Amino acid sequence: MPRTGASDAHGAQAPDQSLWLSTAPAGATLPPLRGHVETEVLVIGAGVAGATTALHLAERGIQVAVVEAGEPGCGATGQSGGLIAPDYIRHSPETICTALGTEAGERLTRMIGRSAQTVFDLVERHAIDCDPRQDGFYTPAHTEALAQDQRQYAEQWRTRGYDVDFVEAEASARLFGSPRYAGALQFRTGGSLNPLAYVRGLIRSALDSGAKVFANSRVKSLTRQAGGWICRTREGTIRARRLVLAANGGNAALHPAMERTSLPLHVVQFATSPLSSDQRQATLPEGGAFTDKRPYLFTARTDRHGHLISGYPTTFFVRGDRARRREAERRLRQNFAALPAPDIGHIWRGLAWVNTSFLPEIYDLGDDAIAIQACNGRGIATNTALGVELAEMLATGEREALSVQPRSPQPIRFHAAAAMMPKLLMSLAYLSD
Ligand SMILES: Cc1cc2nc3c(=O)[nH]c(=O)nc-3n(C[C@H](O)[C@H](O)[C@H](O)COP(=O)(O)OP(=O)(O)OC[C@H]3O[C@@H](n4cnc5c(N)ncnc54)[C@H](O)[C@@H]3O)c2cc1C
Repeated sequence: MPRTGASDAHGAQAPDQSLWLSTAPAGATLPPLRGHVETEVLVIGAGVAGATTALHLAERGIQVAVVEAGEPGCGATGQSGGLIAPDYIRHSPETICTALGTEAGERLTRMIGRSAQTVFDLVERHAIDCDPRQDGFYTPAHTEALAQDQRQYAEQWRTRGYDVDFVEAEASARLFGSPRYAGALQFRTGGSLNPLAYVRGLIRSALDSGAKVFANSRVKSLTRQAGGWICRTREGTIRARRLVLAANGGNAALHPAMERTSLPLHVVQFATSPLSSDQRQATLPEGGAFTDKRPYLFTARTDRHGHLISGYPTTFFVRGDRARRREAERRLRQNFAALPAPDIGHIWRGLAWVNTSFLPEIYDLGDDAIAIQACNGRGIATNTALGVELAEMLATGEREALSVQPRSPQPIRFHAAAAMMPKLLMSLAYLSD
């Protein structure tokens, strides 16, 4: 079905094709897994988590193979908005200490607080052409009460040495081209990038460092045999001594202990055609990226071509291509009243997976198998940081390398019903918006 709406200089798109597929430099040509391969570590999934882990293992001289069901980045990573957000979703540096205890809380805060810088340093070190924009990540407050909390959160981050501030309402109206907010928490090391280009770049560097990467090779089974793991795809097998599951929601099908550990969150992501200079002045005139804290959240950033990129959670009320497009237009009008008639150039759907803690989790599955479960709709920076740490832990055997202590997975109770909750809650949020 052809797309409606004007096209831009970055190619016509099929419906549901992300902006990033039109703008990311081509990835490496990767073979499918055929025949038999032996390796030390097998990583399943080439999103940001798997790619970062594999790159850092290969750089340390550890033999590593990656098996990806589609192409690198075809999961949540390449569907995402590409915001680089060094912040908690539900916590602050102090509330996390109450939740996890001081030592574990401070350790996680260090990882989250540094995570954006980790991303941008990695991009620079590997010269990844992914439109990195370290021009700040903001969480605007939609109520004065939240603004009051955020003034304290800014102080909590600052006393720990992070470049975080609170921007008052007047300044935030100018920064976001929107008078809707009572101010915003500002993380100066945050920003945005092209997430598909990022993961393709990580994979190229992993290949250069000696990793083997196989695409279009869905793992059909994993079995434990003679002290190792045998992974089977349609055309080949890999035998590995150690295993990293980085398949996001796909982890559930790979290991019985991972079943029912996460919930699906469907998201619509969209990008305008490149904005005119007038339109640019009406939206994020100084750059930056933001995600607010409304239940029916709003997010926005721009890229180097002038696309304005945003998204919204799927609800029971917005169904079908035309309704999705209308909703995208409505949300832009609602947030950027001064933005003259934006054209939606790309609209696509994504699937994020959330856990009940909304915190990055690493699961120890025993038998030298470990799983990353840290999507939560906000994992580009955290999964990069986790991948770096996981590679260090696997290379050195030092569990202290991890900011998230591995634990046993716990299935979510009443999972079938719970799986409906994200959409149900988002539908209620939509009605109250
Ligand atoms: C629409 C949307 C917008 C988002 N926006 C942002 C944002 O702006 N900023 C942010 O930080 N986060 C965002 N997120 C969340 C972010 O994308 C994720 O947290 C992050 O990309 C997860 O990375 P990952 O590597 O764990 O998973 P994924 O990127 O999902 O990678 C998992 C990979 O495993 C592969 N796989 C699955 N099963 C198998 C199998 N059996 N065999 C082989 N391979 C398999 C998949 O094909 C996939 O490529 C967004 C998510 C969505 C869906």
